[in-house]
Amino acid sequence: MKLFSDYHMHPQAHKLQPYSQELLQPWADRARLRGVSDFALTDHDRYHEAVCFDEIERFRERNPDLKIRSGIELDNDPKSSAAGRAWVARHWDRLDFVLGSVHYIGDWMFDSAAQVDGYKTRNIDEVYEQYTAELDRMIVLGHIDSLSHLDLIKIFKYFPTSPLVDVFTPILEKIAHAGLAMEISTAGWRKPVGIQYPDEAIVRKALELGIPITIASDAHAPAELSKDYEKLADFLQLTGVKEVAVFEKHKATLVSIM
Ligand SMILES: [Zn+2]
Ligand SMILES: [Zn+2]
Repeated sequence: MKLFSDYHMHPQAHKLQPYSQELLQPWADRARLRGVSDFALTDHDRYHEAVCFDEIERFRERNPDLKIRSGIELDNDPKSSAAGRAWVARHWDRLDFVLGSVHYIGDWMFDSAAQVDGYKTRNIDEVYEQYTAELDRMIVLGHIDSLSHLDLIKIFKYFPTSPLVDVFTPILEKIAHAGLAMEISTAGWRKPVGIQYPDEAIVRKALELGIPITIASDAHAPAELSKDYEKLADFLQLTGVKEVAVFEKHKATLVSIM
């Protein structure tokens, strides 16, 4: 199996860092080393100000052997996402790929280790309902190409009473109907839950619905690019994923990984 793409990474990590060749080049170096020839830069939309399309263009010119996609991870941050969404709309034609993510229920950033106590005071089935309602809203609002870490809400090992696939099937149907892709992410293996995003049964259901798959590491440092892809290859084999989607100007092409 040849895993040649990584469609989720954060050159700026978690602070505003203007795009420059110094910031970006280590990502290309790492990609080449890992056999990744097609990747998307998808910083969090709250740092959109530091994304520079001209720098990305120069980065491409310096690395002509790689397909470098300009992207962003658009989320539902109650403070910053309105501005992020407006920026995405304004630059839609210069972007290749937009990830849609839910990181918040109200103002609770549920995937932050500092806010894990939020699970203890809430009904977990209701948390999953609120989470999927936020995903639904993200799909309805549009301006996205793929949903990232679809069942991120399991990050701290709080699970609903119903199987995850039952909770997420209505969302998968909406993803399919909207013609969007879905990410399989290795990041879950590095988190307390210790399981890839999303759940195996969710991936099988997505394939059944014909949803294109993007693969990703959600790297926040070059060393994490395509992290755990050896393990991911086993998982893709197990679930029967035979092709992955790559994006240019929001247009998906399916490429065989067999
Ligand atoms: Zn995310
Ligand atoms: Zn991310």
